[in-house]
Amino acid sequence: MPIASINPANGRHIRSFEPLTDEAARNKITIAAEAFRSYASVPLEHRALCMRKLAAILEHETDDFAAIITLEMGKPIHASRQEILKCADACRYYADNAARILAPEAIPTENQSYVRWDPLGIILAVMPWNFPFWQVFRFLCPALMAGNVGLLKHASNVPQCALAIESLVRRAGFPRGTFQTLLIESRQVEAILNDRRIVAVTLTGSEPAGRAIAAQAGWLIKKSVLELGGSDPFIVLPSADLDLAVETAVRARCVNTGQSCIAAKRFIVADEIYDSFESRFVAGMESMRVGDPMHEDTDLGPLATPQILDDLEAQIEAAKSAGARIVTGGQRMAGAGNYFEPTVLTGVPRNSPVYREEIFGPVAMLFRVRDLSEAILLANDTLFGLAASAWTRDPAEQQRLVAELQCGAVFLNTMVASDPRLPFGGIKHSGYGRELSAAGMREFLNAKTVVIASAANDNNSTKQ
Ligand code: NAP
Repeated sequence: MPIASINPANGRHIRSFEPLTDEAARNKITIAAEAFRSYASVPLEHRALCMRKLAAILEHETDDFAAIITLEMGKPIHASRQEILKCADACRYYADNAARILAPEAIPTENQSYVRWDPLGIILAVMPWNFPFWQVFRFLCPALMAGNVGLLKHASNVPQCALAIESLVRRAGFPRGTFQTLLIESRQVEAILNDRRIVAVTLTGSEPAGRAIAAQAGWLIKKSVLELGGSDPFIVLPSADLDLAVETAVRARCVNTGQSCIAAKRFIVADEIYDSFESRFVAGMESMRVGDPMHEDTDLGPLATPQILDDLEAQIEAAKSAGARIVTGGQRMAGAGNYFEPTVLTGVPRNSPVYREEIFGPVAMLFRVRDLSEAILLANDTLFGLAASAWTRDPAEQQRLVAELQCGAVFLNTMVASDPRLPFGGIKHSGYGRELSAAGMREFLNAKTVVIASAANDNNSTKQ
């Protein structure tokens, strides 16, 4: 089946690509293997130069790359520009910090001993469409700075983004073969991962894809990192700055037209302020400007594919049948394009499927709770564990939230966001491993222990 770019704002076909044959994909692995042999010894300063050039190209050509994102997956154009600039930030972060992160770590023992960080080889990255540049860059920057090489299998609806990134990396001066795009279908991933020259895999995507990749990687004894879905809570307690909390809540739900793993999805509000929160939040959702993502003033674009629109509609129908109340929205919008109304649900029963599922679109679920304990209980009542945002000015409540919320990140009095300086990742069904920061870079490095005993003083001979 051809891999196609289709504009989600109007359904028009933009361009198609034939998937690589299995043989062509294997040839790319050969090129990557040759590249790794010489690339691992390219000095760090040279890699950093290329990384800074990459940042400069992204900054000079922001509008061009942003337009590709918006055309292929419908992100509002101003957000596409921000995405490109964030990629440039990540390039600079790793160019500036790789030497520190990769420096050998001396460890005091009876001998001279230290840990050195060695690259592993060819890493396969299976990536989603929702942040088609950013998701790739948060893999690419640490991997290439550390001396690994990358193969990208991008989501099949963003092939032009995938090709643009490959070409960008070459233009930045990285040696041939250090980063290649494989235009392949997901059924071809199995054979690629089976290739013994691929040493590790990172997948950002859905639970089913994560399970498939993790099972295979486990069988092959290859390192894997999984960044999967989320149903992040957004907790608002009585001492919060309510104006700021409401305004942020709307932004946190609507980021990327609701198609973000870390978008706030479950709004858990203390009884004392619930009514005021609900009326203001609903007004905020209703004020979102839905429209052509190429327009500067659009807040919500179309959903990325007709399938996502169908899935969202089915989730809303299931919620209604289970007894949830639709306070606003709830319908797909008439006309061309995958548009869905900003929607608020209340009274979602605990035994309904939607209570447990990730909702990928501009749809919020509101819950009323008696107190902090009930808020934490409800927040943790999910299979996911990516991140949480909580709003309170009370230091004792803050401490409890930080300690008791079961997730990879807690943000107090602000919305959850990724940042190259901070580790990013989840627990439970949101996956394992970390991206970004030093932690993300070290996922695909060999922490090699080195011990050098002086010949006259072999302290280890009696130890095991
Ligand atoms: P998806 O359907 O799982 O696709 C993600 C990638 O995996 C695509 O490249 C896809 O290729 C590939 N893929 C799918 N099934 C596969 C299989 N069985 N074997 C190998 N590869 C497979 O997910 P999505 O709908 O594009 O992305 C949305 C999901 O990603 C959401 O759940 C979201 O929360 C999650 N996400 C998580 C993070 C995070 O950092 N935790 C960030 C962003 C998104 P095709 O496109 O060819 O099917």
